[in-house]
Amino acid sequence: MPLYLEYYFWLLLISVGVGVLERVWPRHPGQKVFRAEWDQDLFWLLFNTHFVSWMLALAGVQLARWFQAALPAGGGIPWESLRLLSDWPWLLQFAVCFVVKDFIEWNVHRLMHVVPWLWRFHRLHHSSEQLDWLAAFRGHWAEMVILKLVAYLPMVVLGVDDSVVFAIVAVQTLLHEVTHANLPWGWGRLGYVFNSPRLHAWHHDVALHGRHGQNFSISLSLWDWLFGTAYLPAQPETPARLGFEGMERYPRGIWGRLWDPFGSGARGGGGGKASPQPRVPEAPSGRDGG
Ligand SMILES: [Zn+2]
Ligand SMILES: [Zn+2]
Repeated sequence: MPLYLEYYFWLLLISVGVGVLERVWPRHPGQKVFRAEWDQDLFWLLFNTHFVSWMLALAGVQLARWFQAALPAGGGIPWESLRLLSDWPWLLQFAVCFVVKDFIEWNVHRLMHVVPWLWRFHRLHHSSEQLDWLAAFRGHWAEMVILKLVAYLPMVVLGVDDSVVFAIVAVQTLLHEVTHANLPWGWGRLGYVFNSPRLHAWHHDVALHGRHGQNFSISLSLWDWLFGTAYLPAQPETPARLGFEGMERYPRGIWGRLWDPFGSGARGGGGGKASPQPRVPEAPSGRDGG
């Protein structure tokens, strides 16, 4: 297989590129390359997040094909007629799938902040106290299973070319690293369409500036601006503290964090942002004059 079709080639190229940009234009100039928990994030990078997601993408494609082939006469489901995108030009397939998949992921990400059992998995991603390209890879494997299956299966059913799936994974890796990077950029007006390091830093803020948080965008910030979940103050430029409420009770080691959703996290321990916010008591109806 040519090198440019290897995911690790792009992962290495992108990571070195974004790492160099962080040295040249740091948002926090004092932040070290080998900051706290960098070694743990390297573990998530190598054995977890994107490795798992790429494997899942491949497995999902394969699984769907086996499933279709195994059903007698397709199980009465007109699979071929569902392959609506297979004859489209490559670029159009890419554009449509990129946008549709990103919108699906935005919705799932939002749910991860709202539904308590999903938050138990997702809060691993929010346990970073400093953001950089490497922090992008911190995430629970089960979150990847949920997110990627939901996002990739429709693409397979719609007959998207494998090379389109690969290109989307590579471009999303680039954007994912950039939005987590220690970079000050907000993209100006383009920031209303594309997620940026400035916007995403506020997603990692300990404080919730709306119901269950803000800036749920993965690649396109468009969804947050359209649906009123964007939060980007002029000042300060970056949040004072990253993480989530109650993080002091959250495990610090890799295995503790992997097990957490099934252990203390499942019992409601360890703190969390997705627990329903206390309701502001409604003003007594006395203002009507009784
Ligand atoms: Zn999140
Ligand atoms: Zn993030």
